[in-house]
Amino acid sequence: MPETSGSQAWFYRGLEAGLESDVHAAADRVIADSPDAPNRECTSGCAFCCHFPVGATRGELDTLATALRRDLSDPTYDRLVERVRRSANELRGVDEKTQAAQRRRCVLLGDDDRCIAYPARPIACRGWNSLSRNACEAGFRGEAFPPPSPDAQAYASGLGVHEALRRAGDGTTHELTRGLAALL
Ligand code: SF4
Repeated sequence: MPETSGSQAWFYRGLEAGLESDVHAAADRVIADSPDAPNRECTSGCAFCCHFPVGATRGELDTLATALRRDLSDPTYDRLVERVRRSANELRGVDEKTQAAQRRRCVLLGDDDRCIAYPARPIACRGWNSLSRNACEAGFRGEAFPPPSPDAQAYASGLGVHEALRRAGDGTTHELTRGLAALL
């Protein structure tokens, strides 16, 4: 967790949000509450952070799989399943550090650099908000990772939400590509 005064308080706010029935809405409210929210430089179509491994709980993967099946046309869904399975195969035996160094596009990142499952994206994605686009680009290029300027309060609350979801589920965190390959 990036060091900041009050990180623990934001973690617990996230933990509480993770217990709400509409967890995404509750998490988004807490994350939007961060005092640094006005200083974020994230914009639609900026996807440097979508080239690193994403951890998701089993419940989050189920939510994603349901949304993808519901929202995508049959041909798009079939292409996605093929992409997810191919990517999961390529990742066999690859550890997280190596995967991160590969800067692989997330399997849910569309050709326009927008998430195809944005409303259902996991808390790991929701909680990562950057205060410096340049820092994200540097991280993407391998000059520095993690980028030094996340919105620390939002990040801490995201960790809290994730922890609540993990405890409420099977107690584990799954890498998104492999997790989806098992479900789609
Ligand atoms: S799930 Fe969506 S927001 Fe998260 S890394 Fe993948 S494309 Fe980006």
